[in-house]
Amino acid sequence: MTTPNASGDGLRIVIIGAGMAGILTAIRLRESGYENFVIYEKSDRVGGTWRDNTYPGIACDVPAHMYTYSFEPNPEWSNTYAPGPEIHAYFERTAQKYDVLKYIRFNEEVPHCEFVDSRWHIKTSTGREDVADFLIAATGVLHHPNVADIPGLDSFEGKWFHSARWDHGVELAGKRVGVVGTGSTAIQITSAIADKVGRYDLFQRTAQWIMPIEDIEYTEKDRAAFRADRAKLEAVRQQVNDDFEIFSNAVIDADSSGMKDIEDACLANLEDNVHDPLLREKLRPDYRAGCKRLIFSGDFYAAIQHPNAHVLTEGIERIEPEGVRLNNGELRDLDVLVVATGFRVDSFIRPTTVLGRGGVNLDDVWADSPVAYMSISVPEMPNFFMLNGPNGPVGNFSLIQIAEHQVNYILQLMEKIRAGDCREISASSDATLRFERLRSEAAKKSIWATGCRSWYLDKNGVPASWPWSRARFFDEMAAPKLESYDLAG
Ligand code: NAP
Repeated sequence: MTTPNASGDGLRIVIIGAGMAGILTAIRLRESGYENFVIYEKSDRVGGTWRDNTYPGIACDVPAHMYTYSFEPNPEWSNTYAPGPEIHAYFERTAQKYDVLKYIRFNEEVPHCEFVDSRWHIKTSTGREDVADFLIAATGVLHHPNVADIPGLDSFEGKWFHSARWDHGVELAGKRVGVVGTGSTAIQITSAIADKVGRYDLFQRTAQWIMPIEDIEYTEKDRAAFRADRAKLEAVRQQVNDDFEIFSNAVIDADSSGMKDIEDACLANLEDNVHDPLLREKLRPDYRAGCKRLIFSGDFYAAIQHPNAHVLTEGIERIEPEGVRLNNGELRDLDVLVVATGFRVDSFIRPTTVLGRGGVNLDDVWADSPVAYMSISVPEMPNFFMLNGPNGPVGNFSLIQIAEHQVNYILQLMEKIRAGDCREISASSDATLRFERLRSEAAKKSIWATGCRSWYLDKNGVPASWPWSRARFFDEMAAPKLESYDLAG
């Protein structure tokens, strides 16, 4: 069976996922003269994590004017930190404006991809078979909910759901609501609902450092000024970019003075803004700020000090029909329980089966932990590229900016094939091993390796992130080093 585009001229490209990175890839492909491509999207709308996450208080803690495609500035952002629905609407609008929607096959998942005779053979959930020259995974990182394995969860007689699958049919007003977890998600939920429910219980396994931020509303006058003068928008973006530069240089070196500044700011926030000494000690982490993904919030401490709110640190023994039984024997009776326990961040394109050259299975290649050269290409997986793949820059950055650089890099690799220099291109094993050795070594110096549990660590305890400066990342992405690639055919 063929797809509408399959018989067209030129190279065919299959993209998986119509979130931020998939939309971006489509736009860039068109600009580069590729028209024969398709995006398979398992859901019925674009937007990825911004479509799936609709919990109260959802926002992006990266300033909005930075969490924006560079080519599509948005003068209309309402706040410094845009709420989730606005971000989702921005992606939908951009996909429409750049005519991306016609390339998307909604409600079509890709369970199987296999590289045979220099092309990817793709099967989708509708039974469609597609054959492509390139396979691009834009499948996101924060995608597969991790429902904590807490004994008895299914026995709960109230309503429970994961934060990324919020049940908006459940009334919260006046109810006894519990939230498990203290990641960025749980902190935003706390700020949004602690004072609106009957009783609010935050089940904290690990305290978090909180970096204070000020979320300023842009007035109509501000927005009009942005509309009238793009340079003003650019100036805001540049300012945020400069701040990121400082932050990114700090976190990669645990001993840097920048790290000390971050830690001082978080400590002062705790000391100055949590008034009850007992609560302050409960909320005081025993590891260094920035070791886990740093949380930015201007209102969490106020919310958790509301008379309705309680921080439970005793640990969860099990869930019972009436609520949460703590390790000290206390039962916290609840009507609603939100499991804000994060995502399975090492899945990437999986559970899709990806079979590369000679049938080599990506699952086997990644049996220890996911690895990719420059986080983009895997040996023996020719013409397969990932956006926001393994060990790339994460850590309070704009993943949009990261993905834009990655797409430019991938387009240059694709150009080798378009130019007829080869039919297959993938990172060499040597380059990948060397890259991974240097990366793991450098990661040990970062703040993420200073002793805490976090989703930044792979199962061997090595920070699964880009451990060098952002400037170095941008340099590397400027042009692929072709000596690190196997070109065949
Ligand atoms: P997360 O950071 O992985 O946090 C999960 C939380 O659940 C942690 O507090 C963890 O405790 C707790 N937990 C996990 N298993 C548990 C168990 N069995 N019992 C008790 N507690 C358990 O997840 P998230 O908050 O959803 O955030 C994930 C990422 O999404 C963020 O780091 C960020 O990158 C992104 N995000 C971004 C924004 C934004 O504004 N840009 C907003 C939300 C999310 P421990 O700490 O003890 O492991």
